Amino acid sequence: MITILIISTVVFVGVVFYLAQLVVLGIEQRADEDVLGAKDVFGKIIEQKDKAQAEKAKLEREAMQIFTLYDMTKEITRHFNEQDAFNIFYRKLKENVIIEDCQLVHDIGESFKGGALPSEYSVFVLKSKEKKLGVLLYKGLEPKDREKFAILAHQFALALRRLKLYKDIETLAITDGLTGVYTRRYFVERFDEEIKRASLRKSGLSFLMIDADHFKMVNDQHGHLAGDQVLKEISNIIQENVREIDIVGRFGGEEFCVVLPDTEMEGARVVAERIRKSAEKRPIKAYDSTLRVTLSIGVAVYPSDGKLLEELMDKADWALYRAKSQGRNCVVAFGLYQK
Ligand code: GH3
Ligand code: MG
Ligand code: MG
Repeated sequence: MITILIISTVVFVGVVFYLAQLVVLGIEQRADEDVLGAKDVFGKIIEQKDKAQAEKAKLEREAMQIFTLYDMTKEITRHFNEQDAFNIFYRKLKENVIIEDCQLVHDIGESFKGGALPSEYSVFVLKSKEKKLGVLLYKGLEPKDREKFAILAHQFALALRRLKLYKDIETLAITDGLTGVYTRRYFVERFDEEIKRASLRKSGLSFLMIDADHFKMVNDQHGHLAGDQVLKEISNIIQENVREIDIVGRFGGEEFCVVLPDTEMEGARVVAERIRKSAEKRPIKAYDSTLRVTLSIGVAVYPSDGKLLEELMDKADWALYRAKSQGRNCVVAFGLYQK
């Protein structure tokens, strides 16, 4: 009886123990599963955190680039000369990338300090709208900075294009489209400056007003296009017979003006005669005709004929009118008639 009792107790304890083990195993398994699940969630959170950090770093980089570009563009646009713009670009470049040297040239072929381009230099062509604006020669750029360099260089190319547009507009405003001499407006500005300079230096200055004779006939007989050709040639003749420092402008239609700094009346008459004779002798080819044109010239002198621009213009105009009434193809100096 006792034996049976012992055996059944042992079996009972064994069963209980076995069942308890099963329960513990089940709990352990679930705990393992929970840990695994938690690990998974943690891994995902870490992954998202890394992504967010990478995104933040990227945004910071982009913001930095935008600020740099904005900064650079703002500074460059304050300057109207290529070299100044390049200096700013180079300074910004050195602040943002690791680079040893960078130079701006107009062409790769352009000699590099007098010789061929050394092999350690690379070339970056500055282009905008498919137009080449210049070339950057650079060395010692860190490979990681290549993209930044390209972005900054592209921005510099845009700045160069803007400078070129400004220059083109300026040229359009100051030079006459047909003859290439100064427009009336710009000529008057320069004339005024020369009067001020002459006044300060107490020196003389002469003003010539030149008008083509019977020009209406040239147009009537040979057509307006041939007339234009003659106007171009008149501007060439005038420019060939004056000095570098003299200022030539087209005053309107077939009328040209010249300012001769540091020139008294006698000198001005010599120049005017030289221009007149040169025109008289010059056969002008205009399409299928060869034409001739003569010029009448009025001369006024600062300060004897007037001290103000308007006075000098009026006096030269008077002298020109006189030249026309004397039979044209001649030079008249206001001062010779008004003594
Ligand atoms: P004058 O000897 O008295 O100066 O006579 P003119 O015929 O030269 O003078 P007028 O002022 O009567 O005529 C000027 C002419 O110049 C008339 C106009 O058609 C012409 N002209 C003005 N501007 C231009 C231009 O840009 N091209 C051409 N082809 N002709 C022009
Ligand atoms: Mg005329
Ligand atoms: Mg005229």
